[in-house]
Amino acid sequence: MQYRIDPKTGNKLSILGFGCMRFPRTRGGRIDMQKSEAMLVDAINRGVNYFDTAYIYPGSEEATGHIIAKNNLRDKVYIATKLPLFLCKTYSDFDKYLNKSLERLKTEYIDYYLMHMITTPEQWQTLCDMGMESWIDEKREEGKIKQLGFSFHGKREDFVSIIDARDWDFTMIQYNYLDINNQAGRTGLKHAASKGMPVFIMEPLLGGRLANQKMLPEKAINIMKQDSPVHTPAARALRWIWNHEEVTLLLSGMSAQNQLDENIAAANEMTSPNILPQNELEAVDKVIVVFNESNKISCTGCGYCMPCPFGVNIVDGFSSYNMSYTVGLLSAMKTHVQATAALTTKKGLAGSCNGCGKCERSCPQSIPIRQSLKAVKKRLEPFWFTSAVAVARFLTGVKAKK
Ligand code: SF4
Ligand code: SF4
Repeated sequence: MQYRIDPKTGNKLSILGFGCMRFPRTRGGRIDMQKSEAMLVDAINRGVNYFDTAYIYPGSEEATGHIIAKNNLRDKVYIATKLPLFLCKTYSDFDKYLNKSLERLKTEYIDYYLMHMITTPEQWQTLCDMGMESWIDEKREEGKIKQLGFSFHGKREDFVSIIDARDWDFTMIQYNYLDINNQAGRTGLKHAASKGMPVFIMEPLLGGRLANQKMLPEKAINIMKQDSPVHTPAARALRWIWNHEEVTLLLSGMSAQNQLDENIAAANEMTSPNILPQNELEAVDKVIVVFNESNKISCTGCGYCMPCPFGVNIVDGFSSYNMSYTVGLLSAMKTHVQATAALTTKKGLAGSCNGCGKCERSCPQSIPIRQSLKAVKKRLEPFWFTSAVAVARFLTGVKAKK
């Protein structure tokens, strides 16, 4: 296994982190404890030392805690879990959910504790108004939280604002070769790393879609095969991420032993960042072009049209729309909800465009943005989508801002 150093702590972290959200499951949908234990113990024996879960992943904290405690492995791993912000209505809820996570994980402390999905600076400010900063100080003193960070899905400029809002210990962003200009993107990755904090990557395979031969365009598969038949599409996607010196580790949600084997083999080869040969980088660039060619809206993600004075997330809206034709509609809708922060605000949605036209004056591609946003709304924000978002807001008690 290869390791990179967390610059804030000196912790030696395996570049492959184990995402515990996708443990193998039985036919009945329960976590298959036997298989999960075998995989997790095997991963640790082969050098993986970072395990990521969350309060809201069904059964995941309990399973992770049980396996680690049963095999007496606590001192061999770093555990990360996440505070469910949308469930926290009062100051005492912070304690309630942290204590529950500690109990489920059978541990006295969390190595890397994340605020789960901060999407806007306003959301962080609301938490601060609830006393979050003093709570963090208290939990650090008690030794229950070691490192504090946040996971992010949202707009690039919001990510930068949140990063700048305090001295975070680490952050976790979605990043892969199709997300260079989406969400935090490469700009966000570089900004966070420039602050001297470790950056952890989630969705390196875009929910498995960059690994699934059935979902990749045939032309893209051919480019990869011609470049080198040795590495699978999954290995290529992971190698591309590890090649970034700003990345500390990436998380892979492995649900089968063969995925673990493949990912460990790929990690073992990445002896340092910046080692991919030119032909391999060029092959990835060509694959990106293939995806872009199948784009319905020829947006390059330059961001010149942003910010929209009414808050519409134009760039990610177009990206999700294009994605819906390559990696599938449901998956694109999920990305759209996350990128537009639809659970906390209606502003980012394409449907919030009032047609003022300001954005179109800045677009170097001369994209008819207003018309294209109508297409995004029609495809990604149909009636049942907005109803489902409203139900989700109701169930989680989130009051969406206009
Ligand atoms: S036309 Fe729509 S997206 Fe463009 S700036 Fe105006 S409100 Fe924003
Ligand atoms: S200015 Fe045009 S090309 Fe650039 S992000 Fe906006 S819509 Fe896309």
